[in-house]
Amino acid sequence: MNPKTFKIKSFGCQMNVYDGDRMAELLTARGMSAAADGEDAELVVLNTCHIREKAAEKAYSDVGRLRREDGSKPLIALAGCVAQAEGAEARRRSPMIDIVVGPQAYHRLPEMVAEAVRGARPVDTDMPAISKFDAFPDRRRANPSSFLTVQEGCDKFCTYCVVPYTRGAEISRPLSDIVAEAHALVDGGAREIVLLGQNVNAWTDGDRGLAHLIRALARIDGLERIRYTTSHPADMTDELIAAHGEVEKLMPYLHLPVQSGSNRILKAMNRSHTVETYLATLEKMRAARPDVALSGDFIVGFPGETDEDFQATLNIVDAVRYASAYSFKYSARPGTPAATMEDQIPREIMDDRLQRLQARIDEHQLAFNRSKTGIDTKVLIERKGRHEGQMIGRSPWLQSVHIDTDAEPGDMLEVTLIAAGDRSMAGAVRQKVAA
Ligand code: SAM
Ligand code: SF4
Repeated sequence: MNPKTFKIKSFGCQMNVYDGDRMAELLTARGMSAAADGEDAELVVLNTCHIREKAAEKAYSDVGRLRREDGSKPLIALAGCVAQAEGAEARRRSPMIDIVVGPQAYHRLPEMVAEAVRGARPVDTDMPAISKFDAFPDRRRANPSSFLTVQEGCDKFCTYCVVPYTRGAEISRPLSDIVAEAHALVDGGAREIVLLGQNVNAWTDGDRGLAHLIRALARIDGLERIRYTTSHPADMTDELIAAHGEVEKLMPYLHLPVQSGSNRILKAMNRSHTVETYLATLEKMRAARPDVALSGDFIVGFPGETDEDFQATLNIVDAVRYASAYSFKYSARPGTPAATMEDQIPREIMDDRLQRLQARIDEHQLAFNRSKTGIDTKVLIERKGRHEGQMIGRSPWLQSVHIDTDAEPGDMLEVTLIAAGDRSMAGAVRQKVAA
């Protein structure tokens, strides 16, 4: 019998969250319903991440934990990038897995569930030419801030990264499809749309780039905020930077990963930018939008990284004064060129560097938050806070803002930012902005 209830657990990047939502819509359209919190779902989809070893190992330990006390188990689908990378091998490692479905094939999930119920053990890790997006039902319910994938895959082949192998070559969705999905999201309650792509600023519709798409979306009534992530420094065009100064709905925030502050390491990583070209891009961005909040990604302990290289990374953090940033210990991924490079860095050194880097990033984040104290701004309410009567929303600079208010998710409030922490701000309501 086909399962009636499902649970989807997404790990890793925002694109997985988007994919997870779309799988839920597909299953719902076939008459299944999401299991309530705490309820034992009949189908569990683990939508996995392969970017670092820890994330990939987690997928297998999560599968093991799905065995119930009486020895039975739900139907288990392994989805996402671990499924793509391991294919049929995944079931050899864990025979509890019934379905293996890669990120470009999950539009076939309902049929694969039916096959599994009939006793088959389907595996689909194809990257077909026809787009999975065409197979989805129209979107209905949307979050106040909703993700919309516009670009997938990557042709850049940084030497540490699995994405070009798990997500395939760069593809862009057509402009008309994206605009139609954005309208559906706004009709379903979204007031902010976050455009997603592994290299979102590589989006193109022939001759036109992401700035054109953003300008097209900004014309949608009821859509108030536009963001995009993650960008690659090589695709940060002047046109896109100019849009930050001109399109009011485009939020003053840019996530632009640099990975390292050392040109020697950037070269070994096969990043196409240098520290100097990266900083020049940020300078242009600050000229176009002086209040922009800058964010980035860093990897510490890339093979061959010396103390001097690491110091250069701390230096770039100080030069940019990031409003926030993500930092990771280098994780050797099978099949990537960096995995077999000499001079792999010992774990203790990586731990120490990561701690020092994170402490430096935190200092700048706190300084950025403090610089916004006393400012009047708009906050889009997203969810309930931990305390009774407290709600959490986002400022234009993507800060989490905690507010005592009876407002609902989706409300836009005029707020004074009254206090700064290193991870969030406190705000006081001035008034609600009409929808
Ligand atoms: N395309 C984006 C770019 O080039 O900046 C980043 C997308 S990647 C999915 C997200 C982040 O994961 C990267 O920016 C990088 O910092 C981190 N990452 C990727 N591979 C990694 C690895 N092997 N070890 C540690 N961190 C890694
Ligand atoms: Fe990975 Fe980003 Fe490099 Fe592509 S550009 S290989 S996604 S880190």
